[in-house]
Amino acid sequence: MAIKESDLYKENYKYGLSKHEAKKRLEKYGLNEIKQKKKKSALLIFLSQFNDFIVWVLFAATIISSFLGEIADAISIFVIIFMDAILGFIQEYKTERALEVLKELAAPTAKVIREGKQELIKASELVLGDIVVLETGDRVPADIILIESNSIQSDESILTGESVPVEKLKHDGGKIKNENLLYMGCMITNGSAIGRVIATGMQTEMGKIADMLEKIEETKTPLQEKLNKLGEYLVYIILIICVVVTVMGVLRGENLYKMFLVGVSLAVAAIPEGLPAIVTVSLALGVQKMMKRNALVKKLPAVETLGCTNVICTDKTGTLTQNKMTVRKIYISGREYSVSGEGYDLNGVFLYDSVKVNLKSNFAFNKMMECSVLCNNADIEDNKFIGDPTEIALLVLGAKSGYIKKDLSRFYSKVKENPFDSNRKMMSVIVSKNGKKYMYLKGAAEAVVNKCKYYLLDNNIVNFDNQLRKNILMANDLMAKKALRVLALAYKEITVNESEDELIFIGLCGMIDPPREEVFDAVLECKMAGIIPIMITGDHKLTAEAIAREIRILGEGDRILTGDDLDKLTDNQLEKIIKEVKVFARVNPSHKYKIVKAYKKQGLVVAMTGDGVNDAPAIKEADIGIAMGITGTDVTKETASLILMDDNFTTIVSAVKEGRIIYDNIRKFIRYLLSCNLGEVLTMFLASILKLPIPLLPIQILLVNLATDGFPAMALSLEKGEADIMQKRPRHKNESIFSDGLLYKIMMRGTLIGLCTITSFAFSLYYFGNIIVARTIALGTLILSQLLHVFECRSERKSVFELGIFTNLYLVYAVVSSLIILLFVIYIPFMQKIFYTRSLNLMQLFIVIVFSSMVSIISSLYWYKK
Ligand code: ATP
Repeated sequence: MAIKESDLYKENYKYGLSKHEAKKRLEKYGLNEIKQKKKKSALLIFLSQFNDFIVWVLFAATIISSFLGEIADAISIFVIIFMDAILGFIQEYKTERALEVLKELAAPTAKVIREGKQELIKASELVLGDIVVLETGDRVPADIILIESNSIQSDESILTGESVPVEKLKHDGGKIKNENLLYMGCMITNGSAIGRVIATGMQTEMGKIADMLEKIEETKTPLQEKLNKLGEYLVYIILIICVVVTVMGVLRGENLYKMFLVGVSLAVAAIPEGLPAIVTVSLALGVQKMMKRNALVKKLPAVETLGCTNVICTDKTGTLTQNKMTVRKIYISGREYSVSGEGYDLNGVFLYDSVKVNLKSNFAFNKMMECSVLCNNADIEDNKFIGDPTEIALLVLGAKSGYIKKDLSRFYSKVKENPFDSNRKMMSVIVSKNGKKYMYLKGAAEAVVNKCKYYLLDNNIVNFDNQLRKNILMANDLMAKKALRVLALAYKEITVNESEDELIFIGLCGMIDPPREEVFDAVLECKMAGIIPIMITGDHKLTAEAIAREIRILGEGDRILTGDDLDKLTDNQLEKIIKEVKVFARVNPSHKYKIVKAYKKQGLVVAMTGDGVNDAPAIKEADIGIAMGITGTDVTKETASLILMDDNFTTIVSAVKEGRIIYDNIRKFIRYLLSCNLGEVLTMFLASILKLPIPLLPIQILLVNLATDGFPAMALSLEKGEADIMQKRPRHKNESIFSDGLLYKIMMRGTLIGLCTITSFAFSLYYFGNIIVARTIALGTLILSQLLHVFECRSERKSVFELGIFTNLYLVYAVVSSLIILLFVIYIPFMQKIFYTRSLNLMQLFIVIVFSSMVSIISSLYWYKK
């Protein structure tokens, strides 16, 4: 819905809409969403299960056989195919749902002003007339007219294809021009702005050319692609075997259509059609599990890559540390004072040599407080702290000496802001009071010192000579060594020159940001898992060093490099030493890119975190780009493959662990499915070359497929992961899914299943002289040996007894239900008619148990140890 121009200025933008009004408008005009392609309905998903060539052939064959009088057979086969379809449906529906949930979680947000307060809401809940606050890195959440703008630029390439960002200006009340508008989906590349929503949802420019908005990628992971290829080959091989089995049966004098049905049923059973679905479900479920641990996977392939991570490059502030800054020390006029008070408690006193002091009459002190509060975008409202923790710490510092932002803003009005940028590591504001203009600036000491010409010595302004500069930098180092983040403050009165120079140096504020408690264990876990944690920070080298040592990222003999060091090194030189470096300090985003490239050149798989717009290239270049969910900008979030909802380093480590578990589980069910299918094919194949009668009838083959392929395989994908999963080295990124002898295990195990089944069949046929009994025994052996095998597949290193039989209850339920089906089929007369079985006596049952467990015994005695 679009807004009328005459209505544009009706509401007061500082107050925004009332919540009531916003709700009314939302109900009236609907969600601010671009309508997406229709979701696949449940019915469609179900029907698509039948959309398979082999299934059609089977259908055709059953119809023919029903014409030939085998109606009961035909019905049973239909029922079984139907049940198979239900199983497939459950798997696929689960996948769709899981991917849907992910999309909802990744929903974009918008900052709005409602009832005078800034809030973060889902972008879909924006309504006409809402007042939106935008900053660099934000994605524009609706079509917006600018009310206030501060050097704002918007990247409109998504709409216009033009890659150069466009400058935008606030609307001055005249005719609305393109330059006054921001369009949904475009990216703010510079500046900040406030605007009013003039169109939402399908009424926006973007809505008009819908379908172009980026969605969560549903691309296939490399593993999925490889498995699809493998699946294709398997189809050919299996089809050839089926043809051979059919032809040999016919040559032996079996009925043609019966053999045809055997061949087709075997194809249905042996083709691992469920494999891609289970892989997707297992990836998607893993993604959901990661979400519960605050890691939002945006690109499915990341799940796989996570398991191979060799290096985690992480920001320090907020990721390794708590981002709860508290100013502990201040330095003015050559003296260092301590500041008392914990966290964001507004009460505290200033101490010199542990003695409380009153600095109210000291001009430098007062200027420091003024600068802390005025050159600051954070806010304290109703005891809520909003904004960047570094700035909140300075507001709290001001409050401790009676400098409250609200009070100061009555005298000072902000004229301009030169925003903080992690490249220049400082920011400044120009404020006016009683017709006079002042500049207040804060930032990293080295940067600020270079902008100052004078120095505030208590109540006097003196020249900032070299000695004073040295003293400041020494005081800065002393604070940094105590793990304090240091900010230097400066100011000047503006007469003409509005640029950031010729300033008066005020002093230093040192703030503590303690490490997160959980980080100590997470760093240790990383190291045990063969993953190198690397700290990359914009902070001072000594601050970084102190914290890195404390949390054990930095050990004996490890190196620290600064941004300056990096500038001096060529790419080649960096690659040579990068493995010794554990901390990169005073870096800017372009260095991050250089670091990622150097690691990748070493063949390592790199995860890299970032929050600002400028971090996007490094995040994109990394194997796993990680964006901060809380402090990250939309640009980084969109480039990233993983978002940390809690900005916490520990979350990365849990995600890596989950990635490893998922990959392990995929190997587990691949091992299970392929060895079982091989066993099935081999049973039929061996029978035909040994010139035995058909060991399993079509309906029996389909039953094997139903009882073993479905739920037990799915249950394997829900394995919790082995206890030592984080004690192994990361797997190599190019490693085959069949590495470490998995293919060998599959072949051996499949062969054993086939051999034991056919032996049980031949033996029973000879011993009991009854084909129905022999087939029932073969059926029992084949199903039971697979159900026993599934427990072995739970681990490649440990036996089921070491793991505990009941540690995966889903698997126990799945196996028990399959066993019940088997017993029903053998013992219930009605089922016997459908499945051509006969009740087995104790001895016959014993044969089934002996042959099927023989498979497990032989393999655990011999093959399994290999
Ligand atoms: P990390 O990379 O560990 O997360 P960071 O991202 O906080 O650290 P930057 O934000 O690049 O690092 O900060 C670098 C330096 O810039 C800080 O050490 C500090 O001196 C200065 N600084 C940080 N925040 C501000 C701010 N809001 N205003 C002025 N200067 C700041």
